[in-house]
Amino acid sequence: MKNNLLLLLGLVMFASCQPEKKKEIAPSPNIVLFFVDDMGWQDTSVPFWNKKTPFNERYITPNMERLAKEGMKFTQAYSTAVCSPTRVSLMTGMNAARHRVTNWTLKKDMLQPMEVNHKTLQFPEWNVNGMSPVEGDDKAVYATPLPQMLKDAGYFTIHSGKAHFGAIGTPGENPINLGFDVNIAGHAAGAPESYFGTENFGNGKEGKEVWAVPGLEQYHGKDIYLTEAITQEALKSLDTAVEKEQPFFLYMAHYAVHTPIMGDDRYLQEYLEKGMDSTEAKYASMVEGMDKSLGDIMDYLEREKMDENTIILFMSDNGGLSAVARGGEKHTHNKPLASGKGSAYEGGIREPMLVKWPGKVRPNSVTEEYLIIEDFYPTILEMAGVENPNVVQTIDGQSFLSLLSEKESNTAERALFWHYPNEWGPDGPGIGASSTVRKGDLKLIYFHEDQHFELFDLKTDIGETKNLASEHPEKVDELAKILSNHLRHVDAQMPSFKNTGEPVPFPDEITL
Ligand code: CA
Repeated sequence: MKNNLLLLLGLVMFASCQPEKKKEIAPSPNIVLFFVDDMGWQDTSVPFWNKKTPFNERYITPNMERLAKEGMKFTQAYSTAVCSPTRVSLMTGMNAARHRVTNWTLKKDMLQPMEVNHKTLQFPEWNVNGMSPVEGDDKAVYATPLPQMLKDAGYFTIHSGKAHFGAIGTPGENPINLGFDVNIAGHAAGAPESYFGTENFGNGKEGKEVWAVPGLEQYHGKDIYLTEAITQEALKSLDTAVEKEQPFFLYMAHYAVHTPIMGDDRYLQEYLEKGMDSTEAKYASMVEGMDKSLGDIMDYLEREKMDENTIILFMSDNGGLSAVARGGEKHTHNKPLASGKGSAYEGGIREPMLVKWPGKVRPNSVTEEYLIIEDFYPTILEMAGVENPNVVQTIDGQSFLSLLSEKESNTAERALFWHYPNEWGPDGPGIGASSTVRKGDLKLIYFHEDQHFELFDLKTDIGETKNLASEHPEKVDELAKILSNHLRHVDAQMPSFKNTGEPVPFPDEITL
């Protein structure tokens, strides 16, 4: 009798709690943001152009091919030309002109020598300290970081790899301060001193402390590549998320394929045997090691039966390096695109992007609609079901969920903006202080140093070989106004001339 009563009580409780609970809470999708460093638009066997190129034949990325088959390929996805502006836009939803982390960060409160020593331009006091989750930090942009929003929404948030969000000694240098529950190997620096476990990832090298990868002591002295180590650690953190029964956000931010170009021995030999230049063979092996990491994550999700409820976004933070450190001819590594990392041309900003979302995104689909890195912030929040996000910053990005579901878009009417009132370092085509707008197929670049314009029609001239500025002054005029209005609206910083102290004029102040 007593037992029956207990059973009845149990059944009543089960009936009253269980079904309701199921109805109320739709399972939040897990989100993997697979973010590669310095990977170019052509550094893959997946063609992102309308035809296969020799680069697509060179690189071996079977897991990117697998992801492309299972999801959507974006042929015109943009970041900015260098690391930090992209990463801060990603984590804040703000356009670089607004957040003012317009160049790469490292040292607190300091402009780097290449900026101070520029011959003719004085660069503005941009936010050299990066992003900050706390108000009032000098030379840092105060914003509510994406991982914090996801954590507050119930996600288990994992950072694995390169952070590079804030300068040394500032709150933004530590991913934990930005809302990540776990930080694997992330800190202020934007590159590793070494990719080799046998070299302790650069730890213990005198004078190189800034670049030594933190927190992977268990792999020191072992024959393991950095890409592999941070992937294995990321998968362990996914186990933790499963144990905690929380949805997860994995920010798998690879140090690869950034310099130093150090071969991944698991893959190097095959490229050397093809007769490739040794630097390029090493680079290709780093690309393939990165692709293996993607495959390991996809395998894990399938094995754990989580693949159906996990979104995977693949993206890179700037164009492929081509001005220095590469084998072969400079400025050619992203062809048909012009130039590479650091450049306002497509080679500096156009990225390989893929998105898989089972049940929502049509497998093997392609979109030619364009988007830009700050769009990831509102998109990911929408994916996570965060409505009306309460954040301290103004979000410039626009959700691309409508592109994923192949609904109508406003791409052709929408203008995208880049603003780089800075000096990167190396020289090359399109490299230097500039502001850029793209609207429809037309792209206008305004170079600050000599205030000249370049206008391109990307539909007919993807390689930006024919400057149409003198042929179509009316288009230059129209786009210069749109660009200047944006720059004024977000209170963008401009460089000034060292000889006069006068600021570089806005593009619409130039008489054609
Ligand atoms: Ca980068």
